[in-house]
Amino acid sequence: MNGDTSLLTSDDVSPVHEFNVGADSPYLFTCDHYGRLIPRALGDLGVSESDLVRHIAWDIGIAGVAEQLSDHLNAHLIAQRYSRLVIDCNRPPGAASSIPMISEATIIPGNEGLTPEAAEIRRHGIFDPYHRRINEIIDARIHRGQPTVLVALHSFTPVYAGIARPWHIGTLYHRDRTLPPLMLQHLRAEGDLVVGDNEPYAVSDQTDYTVPVHGEMRGLINTGIEIRQDLIGDQSGQKQWAERLARILREIEETLRKEAVI
Ligand SMILES: [Zn+2]
Repeated sequence: MNGDTSLLTSDDVSPVHEFNVGADSPYLFTCDHYGRLIPRALGDLGVSESDLVRHIAWDIGIAGVAEQLSDHLNAHLIAQRYSRLVIDCNRPPGAASSIPMISEATIIPGNEGLTPEAAEIRRHGIFDPYHRRINEIIDARIHRGQPTVLVALHSFTPVYAGIARPWHIGTLYHRDRTLPPLMLQHLRAEGDLVVGDNEPYAVSDQTDYTVPVHGEMRGLINTGIEIRQDLIGDQSGQKQWAERLARILREIEETLRKEAVI
């Protein structure tokens, strides 16, 4: 694309943010809603600063958990820095929620009346490079014979549309029959957690992108994990959850090796 139709300029950072590149863990972490940046060319999308720090713009708390978890396990993490209000990297492009005109109850003026060309520019600037990079990483791992267990990391708001959510953490999946049952078993064994089995959402081809496209279509063992945002809103919560998940994922890795599926 030429300069006139590029979304990002030299003032904007790359959407792709990586940690522990080339690490040898079987785990590959993704974080679609890691950041809440907005490209300079889009201003503030007409959204107030107080709304741009809410869950509608990003997955509160997950960045700290994802970074520490990937460090604990020495695992590659690929994260996306721009707000889901610009383009949601876990929605199929073209879906109504890909570039939302309303999120929960908040109108996003900068997304109203968007032309197909403008939507395409957002896709080219943010969505495509992020998913292209995930593809490249998976290709490279396959090429060097490194097993890949894909874990998509997310967080969810404790109250949505006035309804309180009881779960501390949820395992989100669709077709994988290997990792989600192990995750559920280990999380329930913790004893102090309310664990969601495909709660607060289930994964589907219509409402998700990373798990169906990179996990299922590539034939990888995979799951999504959602942590409730009030539990990871500060550094101590992020640290505790990263440590807990690292311990659980190490145990699961051992099981997968014993079963010779990785
Ligand atoms: Zn998310």
